[in-house]
Amino acid sequence: ADELALDPWGSSTVSDYRKLFEEFGIESFEDVLGDVPTPHYLMRRAIIFGHRDYRRVLDAMRADEPFAALSGFMPTGDPHIGHKMVFDEIIWHQEQGGDATALIADLEAHAARDLSWAEIDEHTRDYLLSLLALGFDPDEGTLYRQSTNRDVQDLAFELGIEANFSEFQSIYGFDGETDVSHMQSVVTQMADILSPQLDEPKPTVVPVGPDQDPHVRFARDLAARTRYFGVTEAYASFEVDGDAERALLARAYDALADPDALADPDADEPVRCVAAADWLADADLGDDRAAARDGAVEKLRAAGKEPLRPRVRFLDRNATDEAFEALIEAVEGEKRVFEGHVDSFEMDRGAAADLAREIEVDHGGYGFVPPSSIYHRFMTGLTGGKMSSSIPASHISLLDDPAEGYDKVKAATTGGRTSAEEQRELGGEPDDCPVYELYAYLLASDDDEFAERVYEECREGERLCGDCKEQAATLMEEFLAEHQEKRAEVEERLDAADIELES
Ligand code: SF4
Repeated sequence: ADELALDPWGSSTVSDYRKLFEEFGIESFEDVLGDVPTPHYLMRRAIIFGHRDYRRVLDAMRADEPFAALSGFMPTGDPHIGHKMVFDEIIWHQEQGGDATALIADLEAHAARDLSWAEIDEHTRDYLLSLLALGFDPDEGTLYRQSTNRDVQDLAFELGIEANFSEFQSIYGFDGETDVSHMQSVVTQMADILSPQLDEPKPTVVPVGPDQDPHVRFARDLAARTRYFGVTEAYASFEVDGDAERALLARAYDALADPDALADPDADEPVRCVAAADWLADADLGDDRAAARDGAVEKLRAAGKEPLRPRVRFLDRNATDEAFEALIEAVEGEKRVFEGHVDSFEMDRGAAADLAREIEVDHGGYGFVPPSSIYHRFMTGLTGGKMSSSIPASHISLLDDPAEGYDKVKAATTGGRTSAEEQRELGGEPDDCPVYELYAYLLASDDDEFAERVYEECREGERLCGDCKEQAATLMEEFLAEHQEKRAEVEERLDAADIELES
């Protein structure tokens, strides 16, 4: 995805990320870590440092209910060790029972980065081979590329109806020069994020770097705009706030005692209200009254009149969950004549369908659960600064020759002191060391004790950079050799997977 302006947090210390919590409302991952059944080491080491609304995903995970995880990859170059983090996050969620989706953002690569389709095809294969080699199960999960996914494109079109140009301007800095396909690739990306919910609404997590947060917020916004919304019209007719309405309601209830009056098609408004009151109150009806009501309704209809029933229209966008809950409680509860004022509500797809069925109205919308996100820190480039696909020495590609990977680690900058004596005396600075990051993010794998030992030995001056890099370089060489072996092993599996590899 595009790198957005939201990226002043290139450094790796947690305190710098605090701004994100304060300014953008991203929550600290620490707060939910205790609720993760078996946290990934990226979580345990606070490399995954923040989240938005991840609790609902965890709740589903723990209750064995459906949830999804999705990430998109723009095939603009080789997959590198920064991408491995995202692969690992998707795979971990799949292992926890989630519906995992990895998609290739080929439309975006073509529109926003000007890549040819031949280049895109080559990189697509490379990304997917690494994903499968790291453990993604293509039989359980979903793989697709944007350009061949009709459902996603249809959804993108629908979401485009809810998005407008001034939002694109303020969120993405688009202007009069931005080409239309680039804008289309944004709504496609929004559709990607919501697509795991097309069959069934479910909590969905998108693991991203914090620079992607605007996408997440926009997707959450669009999800809210396409939920079900409603107002209860009948309730508006039955507002019991004023004395006049109270009197009307009382008359209506009195008339229930007189089935003849109830059945008179020429009766005035209050009597038609009776049928409505009756409808609302039918939990308390005896058989006789129910029969009288049904007869009355029939006669009214024969005369071309409708009793005033509670009806639902899906049109109000400013509803709150509280209003919705109050409404559902009122409809489902024994007491069907509302005493309070509920004029609008918002609900998920299942509840909307149930209610719509009950009161015989059509319903629309998607009922998307707002997508959640988790945020990982950026890996520092091996040469300092940000790790970047366009600077080969700054990153290690998953396709690098293992010997080259070894050399790159050996050439990396460190958080070491100017001399060995000084290092022994003062200790190194692992928090500012790209080599330490390699241990924490990748080389120590699941072994926390090893990662901590490197950290402590460095800080205590017991570890010197030469040996430390030698150890890291050797581990990197082994990792790359093993990963590339696995890539070769999954070739066939990828060819058999349900995704078009060539455009
Ligand atoms: Fe980095 Fe290792 Fe040197 Fe510490 S000893 S600063 S972790 S390279």
